[in-house]
Amino acid sequence: MKNSKIDFDVFIIGAGPGGSIAGKIAVENGYKTCIIEKDVIGDNGRYKACGGAIAWELIEEIDYPEDKISRTFESLELHHVDGIRFSKKGKGVTIWRNTFDKFLSDMAIDCGAILKESEPLIGIEKTDSFYRISTKKGNYIVKYIIASDGATSTTLKLLGWPYFKKENLILTITKEMKTSKEFINKMLGNDAVHAFFGIKSLIPIGYAWLFPKAETITVGWGNQINLVKNSREEFKKFENLPFVKNALQDSKLSIFKSHLIPVGLRPKLYEDNVFAVGDAGGIVDPISGKGIPYAMMSGQIAIETIKTCENRDKLDKLGIYYEKNLDKKFLRVLKAKRIARDQIFQNDENLKRFLSLWEKYRSSEIIMRRLL
Ligand SMILES: Cc1cc2nc3c(=O)[nH]c(=O)nc-3n(C[C@H](O)[C@H](O)[C@H](O)COP(=O)(O)OP(=O)(O)OC[C@H]3O[C@@H](n4cnc5c(N)ncnc54)[C@H](O)[C@@H]3O)c2cc1C
Repeated sequence: MKNSKIDFDVFIIGAGPGGSIAGKIAVENGYKTCIIEKDVIGDNGRYKACGGAIAWELIEEIDYPEDKISRTFESLELHHVDGIRFSKKGKGVTIWRNTFDKFLSDMAIDCGAILKESEPLIGIEKTDSFYRISTKKGNYIVKYIIASDGATSTTLKLLGWPYFKKENLILTITKEMKTSKEFINKMLGNDAVHAFFGIKSLIPIGYAWLFPKAETITVGWGNQINLVKNSREEFKKFENLPFVKNALQDSKLSIFKSHLIPVGLRPKLYEDNVFAVGDAGGIVDPISGKGIPYAMMSGQIAIETIKTCENRDKLDKLGIYYEKNLDKKFLRVLKAKRIARDQIFQNDENLKRFLSLWEKYRSSEIIMRRLL
């Protein structure tokens, strides 16, 4: 039964992939839905530090327009600094996040969700059975909250939820290097993205990457946050690898940004009608740092869980069902990968063995079939 005191049934904080898909699915299920976003989204909107690599299957699933794709690739080249290289075949694309996120938020708007841009969340107060939300522009009474505002989620901070353990956070640095298409094709190949590993002499737990877009190389580096001693020096070590140095010669820095990737779950994903979705919940592949598809799926699952529990009169089970549904779809595998990650990054021997297997198998297969 609808309550007239409520402004929105579902209130979503953050219009990233998780928030936009939650918004779309919420409207499709009949919920009055609002998404607030602190920035402006769009081609000239906020920049988001991201490799922007997405599997081809996802592009097909959401019917992402070809003219919004920066580059198509056929392989992920895995370089170990000891000189070994593996080539993992698989079709994917690179995209710019401002364009991609705009496409997803337009999908939510087209379904009927209200998107309020440049409207950051500043306060949350719990009343008897609702939440009173304050933003820089207004106040709203809402029933369900989707926290999809990223790794440093203000929503969950305001609600006093526990933060990530240090060993579950990767500190990343991204540099966008402008160059020409021809030069990228010559140095990196016209159909490859590159990742760089090496525990002893490059990055203790993490990796670095060169992900080309049309005329830009996204240069990224990520290391477990409590193992970082001097990020700029460590990043420089990567840039000085001969392959990387060659690829980046004559390119011009256009953006420099650091950001966090959570690679393990928050201690909880649900409480009192509040759902942690995507990065806010740490719902990310702990080995690769891939998070876009998991943010989208967790946004969808949060809303479907609300619907099912309402229909079955099981609202006291929302949290249990949310995690159960996530587990069924993919979270069980991510949890296993989080455990395997410690083994893979224990020493270079284990890492090389993993890379050699990754060339032939999906990482989920390696972990679940215990091939390591
Ligand atoms: C350097 C780097 C490289 C990556 N490369 C890849 C990759 O190649 N492929 C891949 O799949 N994943 C990659 N990831 C992971 C991916 O970026 C995230 O997993 C994904 O963006 C998570 O989506 P989300 O919707 O949960 O959160 P986000 O995309 O972080 O979106 C959160 C949104 O909330 C908004 N927001 C924040 N605070 C507030 C507030 N107070 N009020 C209102 N709005 C707010 C933000 O502006 C933002 O739009 C990478 C991450 C990093 C850091």
